[in-house]
Amino acid sequence: DTPSPPREDISAQDVFIAVKTTKKFHKARLELLLDTWISRNRDLTFIFTDGEDEELKKRTANVINTNCSAAHSRQALSCKMAVEYDKFIESGRKWFCHVDDDNYVNVRTLVKLLSVYPHTQDVYIGKPSLDRPIQATERISENKMRPVHFWFATGGAGFCISRGLALKMSPWASGGHFMSTAEKIRLPDDCTIGYIIESVLGVKLIRSNLFHSHLENLHQVPKTEVHKQVTLSYGMFENKRNSINMQGAFSIEEDPSRFRSIHCLLYPDTPWCPQNVVY
Ligand code: UDP
Ligand code: MN
Repeated sequence: DTPSPPREDISAQDVFIAVKTTKKFHKARLELLLDTWISRNRDLTFIFTDGEDEELKKRTANVINTNCSAAHSRQALSCKMAVEYDKFIESGRKWFCHVDDDNYVNVRTLVKLLSVYPHTQDVYIGKPSLDRPIQATERISENKMRPVHFWFATGGAGFCISRGLALKMSPWASGGHFMSTAEKIRLPDDCTIGYIIESVLGVKLIRSNLFHSHLENLHQVPKTEVHKQVTLSYGMFENKRNSINMQGAFSIEEDPSRFRSIHCLLYPDTPWCPQNVVY
């Protein structure tokens, strides 16, 4: 057995969290994140959007207008991921994490999780969205193709990449390269990340059950385990409303995503959290 490397003493400031959003969700989704987890983690959170919004800029400094199209197309989403990647490299930070605007990030547990790995080594961590590798066709040239299969972490649950690995991804991910790589396999942005890491660089995804998207049944996360999770989400699953099932500071009507109740559980000293509740 090779001894495991010592834990790295990282702080939240070593992490770069990219939140992907779009103008129509600034009010509908981003407000909730700004009120909750982002309020405690302003300097590590960077919001990647597609439209100018003066009000949003007043609330938080790190708003990046990608100038990507506001469509939900493969190209528009890859365009945003490409900007996220470039801004992370520019930031000089040790860890890149990507989340959607329907994710709650528990930054304390995220930092603890990342501390286990050296940021200089190749680390890609998240939750696979499928139970088998995705099958794709790589376009090598005009009329040459080959089948490829690889695992990828679902973007909707959030994932992280070490700086060491991110630097190796540069020929396929930096500048305009991410967009052309995505076109080679014609798959969404999170799949393209998996393709570059697993298929091109031969680095394996580390699976973590602490990342959660609304593509899984969130009722299965017990309340006693909520504080141990790295990301949570809300949305639709099998045509039903899906969220963490927990009693908390606010009713389902007041807080359908449960994010405000989760936030009060994790940060009970928040001014708008009821102060007389025993969690
Ligand atoms: N999104 C975007 N542009 C769009 C639609 C969605 O950037 O035109 C972002 C959205 O803000 C979110 C992510 O893409 O961060 C996933 O969107 P959504 O949750 O609506 O869809 P899902 O794929 O989870 O069903
Ligand atoms: Mn979603």
